[in-house]
Amino acid sequence: MAMISCPKCDSHTKKGGYKTWQILVAICFFPIGLLALFMDKEPSKCGNCNHIWQA
Ligand SMILES: [Zn+2]
Repeated sequence: MAMISCPKCDSHTKKGGYKTWQILVAICFFPIGLLALFMDKEPSKCGNCNHIWQA
């Protein structure tokens, strides 16, 4: 899991990733399922100040 720094408080937090169903769809319906990965991504959430943003 990649680490990024919060744009608000600059503390390090986990980068938001793909949802489980998106990974499953991508594998089961490869290569068309890869489109699911472009639909939406989990936003990143800072564990320190609870700021949520798209990274
Ligand atoms: Zn923060």
